[in-house]
Amino acid sequence: MRTIKLYDTYQGKLREFKPIDEKEVDIYYCGPTVYNYVHLGNFRPTVTFDLLTRFLKAEGYDVKCVSNYTDIDDKIIKQAKLENKTEKELSEFYIKAYEDCLDKLNILPLYNHPKASEYITKMADFIKDLEDNGTAYQGGDDIYFSVESDPKYGSLSKQKIDDLVSGARIDVNTNKKNPLDFALWKLTDDDGIKFDTSVGRGRPGWHTECVVMVNNVFKKTLIDIHGGGFDLKFPHHENEIAQSEAHNHTQLANYWMHCGFLLTNGVKMSKSLGNSILAKDVLERHSGNAIRLFFQTTHYRAPVNYTEENLNAMDKLAAKYENSLKRASVTLQLNNIPAGTRIASDYEEYMNALANDLNVANALSVIDREVKEINSLSAKKDGDMSRLADLVATISELYDILGLRFNLPVIGDEERKLLADFNLARENKDYTKSDELRPILMQKGLL
Ligand SMILES: [Zn+2]
Repeated sequence: MRTIKLYDTYQGKLREFKPIDEKEVDIYYCGPTVYNYVHLGNFRPTVTFDLLTRFLKAEGYDVKCVSNYTDIDDKIIKQAKLENKTEKELSEFYIKAYEDCLDKLNILPLYNHPKASEYITKMADFIKDLEDNGTAYQGGDDIYFSVESDPKYGSLSKQKIDDLVSGARIDVNTNKKNPLDFALWKLTDDDGIKFDTSVGRGRPGWHTECVVMVNNVFKKTLIDIHGGGFDLKFPHHENEIAQSEAHNHTQLANYWMHCGFLLTNGVKMSKSLGNSILAKDVLERHSGNAIRLFFQTTHYRAPVNYTEENLNAMDKLAAKYENSLKRASVTLQLNNIPAGTRIASDYEEYMNALANDLNVANALSVIDREVKEINSLSAKKDGDMSRLADLVATISELYDILGLRFNLPVIGDEERKLLADFNLARENKDYTKSDELRPILMQKGLL
């Protein structure tokens, strides 16, 4: 297997990737809080970790990629009231909407897609353990984690507790021993969804949900890769690590990967800034292939700027790839050329680019070179058909790793006859006939 390098935010450097088990890779990335339609930026980590999964699978690893749904949250309770639904009805509705987007973006099925609500007892027991070992305490109506109990707190975001406190907004909550302490459990008897557990009646805090789901879905206290958007680094991921250190004496994941922001006209896209674009709306205007290319053509750690022009350009790029592959596929079928074999040198160059912290830009140069050659061979009357078949076999694999999905025409007797009639009509300058056949051929993807 080739050397793979990934940028680890925890250590702040590019590191050689070595999974805990030689052949298996565990990946977890934080999923959405399902209280409304998600904005486009939510899908950047989704596409990035899907690309990483596809790349690692092609390398021969057994990849277990997991992402959660946060379906217990004060935002959900509030929205459910507004929509006059139960919390469960509301979250199920938005999970379905989210999954429609996953489908359109051609995201591989996950190993598991846990919901926070399914792990409440485990979360309560986890928090009870923290209370018992002195890292958590009850203050007023909440159970808090004591950040001072973790000498390594701040390691991920590279900040010291004192600096964080002085930079934090003044906290009027006198129930906390330290302003940075965060809630693990809210003890409440309000009219929102709540559970009777070993730590009392109430509901869990977001930071505990993920760490408990990681431990229980993988049945491990340390996994290979944990990821999410850049904004989750602090406090969410810092707090996940602190709890894992306190409970399991691990940093939860060996590699921490974070995706850069999605910008709208140069400004970070976020719900709170009111400039967010809903993913479902963008997917009505642009193909899943175009949106994947939009995210993937910029390095995953760099900011990427959303504009309609940028997405239109990606629609064009996706169409260029699709047309080239379709035309080659039709040519090969009409000439009865058997399936080709992978061109090893191109494949190696492509995979080596991705092995370098998912450098898609360099990988795309292999695709662009192959597209040029495919187009030139398809256009020639006496092109080298076995070379064309090898190129098509190779580029199909490369597209698949990028998660691009193209529907290729299948040519049977009917299609052969239509094409022959069309070509004959054009030779005879019978434009009425060729105009009649053109839309039929186009509809079948043959022109
Ligand atoms: Zn999380």
